[in-house]
Amino acid sequence: MDLNYSAEETAFRDEVRGWLEHNLPDDLRSKVLEYRELSKDDLRRWHQILARKGWVAPDWPVEWGGTGWNVVQRYIWEEECGYAGTPPLVAFGLRMCAPVLFRFGTDAQKQRYLPKIYSGEEFWCQGYSEPGSGSDLASLKTRAIRQNGHYTVNGQKIWTTLAHYADWIFCLVRTDPTREKRQEGISFLLIDMKTPGITVRPIHLMDGGHEVNEVFFDDVKVPAENLVHEEGKGWTVAKYLLGYERMGTGRVGMCKRELARLKEMATRQMKDGRPLLDDPRFRDRLSRVEVELMALEITNLRFLDQLRGGRPPGADVSLLKIKGTEIQQALTELMMQVAGPFAPVFRPVDADAGFDAFTATLAARYCNLRKATIYAGSNEIQRNIIAKATLGL
Ligand SMILES: Cc1cc2nc3c(=O)[nH]c(=O)nc-3n(C[C@H](O)[C@H](O)[C@H](O)COP(=O)(O)OP(=O)(O)OC[C@H]3O[C@@H](n4cnc5c(N)ncnc54)[C@H](O)[C@@H]3O)c2cc1C
Repeated sequence: MDLNYSAEETAFRDEVRGWLEHNLPDDLRSKVLEYRELSKDDLRRWHQILARKGWVAPDWPVEWGGTGWNVVQRYIWEEECGYAGTPPLVAFGLRMCAPVLFRFGTDAQKQRYLPKIYSGEEFWCQGYSEPGSGSDLASLKTRAIRQNGHYTVNGQKIWTTLAHYADWIFCLVRTDPTREKRQEGISFLLIDMKTPGITVRPIHLMDGGHEVNEVFFDDVKVPAENLVHEEGKGWTVAKYLLGYERMGTGRVGMCKRELARLKEMATRQMKDGRPLLDDPRFRDRLSRVEVELMALEITNLRFLDQLRGGRPPGADVSLLKIKGTEIQQALTELMMQVAGPFAPVFRPVDADAGFDAFTATLAARYCNLRKATIYAGSNEIQRNIIAKATLGL
C-alpha cells in the first residue's frame, strides 16, 4: 500500500494550505487556538468565506454546491483545516440535515432549505435528546398532533447544542403513542425556531461556557409540509443521520495539531533538569496516543472510501466516535500533565508567570472535553452497537 501523496495530491494540499494562510482571519484563528468562545458572527463569518470560495460543503452533490473532491482531497482538506486552526463549521445543517434532505426530502424541501444552509443564512440545531431519553432515545415523549394542515408540538428537548444560535431545529417527535414498537410512532419535523411557543434556556457547562440548552415547546404550530419522510418513519431518518454525525467526531487534523503542540510543550517543560519529553514514562504515554491517532487516521480513510463508493456509514462508524473522542481526551490529559501548576482552573492569563494564553485556558478545555465521550451517543452505547451489529454478540 502506498501511503504517500501523489504529485497532484501534493499540489492540491499546497493550494489548500496557501488559500487557508491567506483567507483564515487572524482573529478567528487565535480564538480557536487559544480556545476562546466563538460567537455566532464568528462561526457565520468563516462559513460565508468558505461558501464564497465554494468549499463549504465538499461532500454535497456537485449540483448543489459540492466540490466533487475525491476521498483523498476531502481528507487533505479536513487535515489542513485542523492544522490551520479554522473555526468549526456547524455540522447540524451542513452535515446532518442536508444529507437527510438529499436522501428523504421532497424537491420543495430541498429547494427551500439547502441553499440557505449552504450560504450560512440559516443555522440549524438538533432536537433529539430529552430528559430521560438520551441513550434510550426511542422513549422520547415530545408529542406532535396533526390537525388542519399542521402539527401542534408540546414537550422538551435537552442538551441542544447551539440552539441559541439556531434559526431552525430538526426534531424527533412522537406522532403515534399507541404503537407497541416505540420506534414506529416517531416522526422527523423541521421547526422554525422563531415559531411562537418555543423557549430556549441555557445550560452552563463546567468550563463556564454556554453551548448547550434546554428547548421547550408549548403548543408550537408546525406546517405539515415540514414533515420529512413519512409520518411514523422518523426513526429510519434518525438512524441514517446518526451515522453522519459519528463520522464527524474523529477530528484527526485537529488532534495532529494538538499532538504537535503537546510535544512542543513537553520539550520546553523541564523535569529533573531534562525536558519532560525525555522522561520514559511520559514518552510511553505520548507514543501510545500517537500510534492510536495513526490507526484512527487509517480507519477514517477507510470510511471515507466507503462513502465515495456510495455506501452510507454503517454501525462500524461507531469506532471513529469511540477512538476519536478518547484520543482528544488523552491529549488534553497529557497537556495538563505537562503544564502542571501552570494550568489551574480560573487562573487569568499572566505572561510573567511563564504560561501563555493557551495554557491559561487548558483546564477549561480539559473540563469541556469530558463531553466528547457522551455526545453523539455515549461511548458505552457505541460499544453496544459494535457488539451487536458488527461482532454479532
Ligand atoms: C455537550 C453535549 C452536547 C450535546 N448536544 C446534543 C444536541 O445537540 N442534540 C441532542 O439531541 N442531544 C445532544 N446531546 C445529548 C447526548 O446525545 C446525550 O447526552 C447522550 O445520548 C447520553 O444521554 P443522557 O445524557 O440522557 O445519558 P443516559 O442515557 O442517562 O446515560 C447515563 C450513563 O449511562 C450509560 N448507559 C446508558 N444506557 C446504557 C446501556 N444500555 N449500556 C451501557 N451504558 C449505558 C451512558 O453511557 C452514560 O454513561 C449532547 C450532550 C452533550 C453532553
